[in-house]
Amino acid sequence: MNAPVLVINCGSSSIKYALIDSDPQAPRLAGLAERLGGNDALLKGKNSDGESFTQPLPNADHTQALNAILERLEGRLPVAVGHRIVHGGEHFTQAALIDDSVIEAIETTAALAPLHNPANLAGIAATQKVFPTLPQVAVFDTAFHQTLPPQAYRYALPETLYTEHRIRRYGFHGTSHAYVSQRASELSSCGAGGWLTAHLGNGCSTSAVWNNQSQDTSMGLTPLEGLVMGTRSGDVDPGLHAHLHRQLGWSLDQIDTVLNKESGLLGLSGLTNDMREIETQALSGHAGAKLALEVFCYRIAKSLAALSCALPQLDGIIFTGGIGENSPTVRHRVLNLLPHFGFALDGEANEATTRGKEGKLDSANHTGPEVWVIPTDEEGRIAMETRHCVEALT
Ligand code: AMP
Repeated sequence: MNAPVLVINCGSSSIKYALIDSDPQAPRLAGLAERLGGNDALLKGKNSDGESFTQPLPNADHTQALNAILERLEGRLPVAVGHRIVHGGEHFTQAALIDDSVIEAIETTAALAPLHNPANLAGIAATQKVFPTLPQVAVFDTAFHQTLPPQAYRYALPETLYTEHRIRRYGFHGTSHAYVSQRASELSSCGAGGWLTAHLGNGCSTSAVWNNQSQDTSMGLTPLEGLVMGTRSGDVDPGLHAHLHRQLGWSLDQIDTVLNKESGLLGLSGLTNDMREIETQALSGHAGAKLALEVFCYRIAKSLAALSCALPQLDGIIFTGGIGENSPTVRHRVLNLLPHFGFALDGEANEATTRGKEGKLDSANHTGPEVWVIPTDEEGRIAMETRHCVEALT
């Protein structure tokens, strides 16, 4: 199937899209409709000649935005639509062709991702109206981590919370961890061995991948567990919630907002959630920015060291995401905290690898585990899984 796949990532007031050919070199048409429902709603994107456009869509809903996107596809009609769905629970271990039973299962899982799954479902409904004859495929952020063994996915809580309420660790960023580990296994002579992956963007997570299967990951029931992120705290003492409630009288909603939106790099630095700004301010001596950078990198290193327990053998580490791909400082600091793993970072290669470059950062003649930067391609992976799912039907 060579014709393009339309990849849709639908939020409550936004639709990110990309039209992706099976030839990875072919130019992609991509863009974002945002502020949907408001009178300042917009569609922004790039044409195939690389020119940017901005089109006002006052008060447009998801269906109207998709119609506007359709007009921007320059006559290249997709043969299928792939939807990024945040939570597939335990139901989905791989991409699924969307039918009524799949929609019902995504609705059932919405309790685990109340902000995301309903928006994803709205995207499916709108897409079905605009492209009624196209096959639609759901690709789940959680699916790649469904290979975790119980020792990695179970919390030490009463059993009924798992058996009756499905409270367990699920993990997220699955398409990214899957893509970069698969790509490393193609590029490296180590093949599909043991890889630690660090997806470091506004959201951050690590994963241990053995033989192309996720063995453990830092995010859990929700995308709040694990690393320090832009505005998310990552791991805190579970006793914190009761403490804040009893001592400060905070409601659960307040606590949830603070941990998700006011913590992380922003909370520690008191400045910003943007790593570029944190690095600049840390260099000029800002105490909060310096601390934010230190805690951020320490927690990544600690997580990677912990996840190494899930691998029978460590062949390498992969950095990806906006920070992982672009910050030599973060990569250097993280690896400096793991001297016992035997990585050997080439300083020049590290500095030179930014802005979407793919590369191995090892010093010459190095024999320990490898260090890679692999720009993630979640949309490309969703398109590939969509294609496989549709091809399996024919
Ligand atoms: P993402 O969510 O993957 O788009 O990543 C966003 C994060 O990447 C933000 O914290 C940005 O500050 C960070 N980022 C982007 N470019 C750079 C850069 N050149 N150096 C450091 N951080 C960067």
